[in-house]
Amino acid sequence: MQKIWSLESIYPSFESESFKRDILTLENLVTELNTQSETLEDVPSLEQFVATMEKTDQLYLRLYGYASLTFATDTGHEEALKTQNKLQKINSESAQSEAKLMSFLSKIPDFEAFIEPSNFLKNFAFILSEKKKLAEHMLSEKEEILAAKLSITGSKSWNTLQQKLTSSLKGTMVKDGEPVNLPITVIRNFAYDASPEVRKSAYDAELSAYENIAEAIAMSLNSIKGEVLTLSEMRGYTSPLEMTLEKSRMSKATLDAMLTAMEESMSGFHKYLNQKSKLMGHENGLPFYDLFAPVGKFSKNYTYEEGCKFVVDNFRNFSDKLADVALHAMENGWIDVEPRSGKRSGAFCSSQHMIGEFRVLLNYTGNLGDVTTLAHELGHGYHATCINKESVLNAQYSMPLAETASIFCETIVNQAALKIATKDEAITILENSLQDATQVICDIYSRFLFESKLFEIRDDHPLSVNELNEIMTNAQKTAYGNGLDHKTLHPYMWLIKPHYYYAIQNFYNFPYAFGLLFAKGLYAKYLDAPAFFKTKYDELLAASGKHSIVDVCKIMDIDVEHVDFWRASLAIIQKDIELFIELTE
Ligand SMILES: [Zn+2]
Repeated sequence: MQKIWSLESIYPSFESESFKRDILTLENLVTELNTQSETLEDVPSLEQFVATMEKTDQLYLRLYGYASLTFATDTGHEEALKTQNKLQKINSESAQSEAKLMSFLSKIPDFEAFIEPSNFLKNFAFILSEKKKLAEHMLSEKEEILAAKLSITGSKSWNTLQQKLTSSLKGTMVKDGEPVNLPITVIRNFAYDASPEVRKSAYDAELSAYENIAEAIAMSLNSIKGEVLTLSEMRGYTSPLEMTLEKSRMSKATLDAMLTAMEESMSGFHKYLNQKSKLMGHENGLPFYDLFAPVGKFSKNYTYEEGCKFVVDNFRNFSDKLADVALHAMENGWIDVEPRSGKRSGAFCSSQHMIGEFRVLLNYTGNLGDVTTLAHELGHGYHATCINKESVLNAQYSMPLAETASIFCETIVNQAALKIATKDEAITILENSLQDATQVICDIYSRFLFESKLFEIRDDHPLSVNELNEIMTNAQKTAYGNGLDHKTLHPYMWLIKPHYYYAIQNFYNFPYAFGLLFAKGLYAKYLDAPAFFKTKYDELLAASGKHSIVDVCKIMDIDVEHVDFWRASLAIIQKDIELFIELTE
């Protein structure tokens, strides 16, 4: 099986005629967009503009995809890097046309009536009315320019400061009986170490190193959140949370229903943490530094061919189409499999909408986690395949729905692996997935509580380091309950998580919980009524970029604003917790 992907069908090379011609075409399309945006006034002119927008997006994604995929497996490729920068620059020149479009849309009093005569525009009703809604929160043109420029010396600079201070920070821990001075990023990784002394020493080193930079980073956080509050108020939102929900296409009722079910389920997670704590020999709950401690032993290895077979066979139990999409990717050079020098780490899937293909990057070494990752990324590929029949403009789904198909596929493979596992193997599989779920449910909940409180207090005054530490540990106590030892929490979590420092993306936490629980909820639905589920699943994925979350879910008769749906998702994790406890008693 081919283990290095081929990008030939996207472009033969950077020097090829087709590549050079498409760069020129893209430049012309951007100019055309800008010209057309000047004369937006009626249905025909909007139709023409949207059609040009569609062509521009498609071509941009193809060109950028080629450059970024080339770069991903060869980070020393200068042409790929240069091309990415060049394309970003071309793309940024279309910002002006976007602003004109928004302003045009905001002035249409009855949008539905306006697009009624055009079937072409009706297909884009959702994304256009979404832009219209965002436009209503826009400031005047001059104010928008000022805000954008000030953010460069404001929130973006504060964000850079946080990145610089945390990435260059070093700490001193004890390893093999000797004190060693190491970068914090390396020290944090020792949380996964097999030795309890190393984990504890790394945790102590981390916390004491943060004391040196806490004042400066508290100032960053206060400034960024202050800017967000000012802007969200000026834009007419009641809160940064309202602004975030609107951008996520998610209703407040959905968030509330999900949070209610999460709160109800916390005691289950505490039971798991207490069991893990017992296994590690602690008495008053798990210390923070043992949250990621390895449990059990799993030595089975899968060659890539075995991994592929395991994934395809189990996908086939779900549907032939899913298995065939995966097989097609494996057999046609769409997957870059093994780690090698110059290739980036991690894994991802990238869709090539224009040619109806996708590419998956892995760093496959053969453990079970790698097989699950293969299934996860192919899930993204399946999502791309289903959504491909839609226009590229209707193919951009919001963050909460982004992990639906991937986690669903991961669950299929994990459940299959559990069925054939020995007891020791089962303990490791369950522990790994519960460790993840605890992060996505308990920890995310603590981050949501922290950020809510942070905005509330920041609206009144800038917070001191002590105040930040206190609201962080209070949030951890609420979320982790007696599952964690309250004497060893992590007061500086606010300082290290990058998500708090993006001014344009607030509450970058609950979408993770939504992603996991929505996929689990779908899996529960599948187990409940497989035949019905299979007829609707593709339709749901295909529609994920052109409706609100509530409407996407209605396709499968799912009411995400009702707490019962979320309860069913959490019940699946609860079952895993019970099995883990039973196997480790
Ligand atoms: Zn993913």
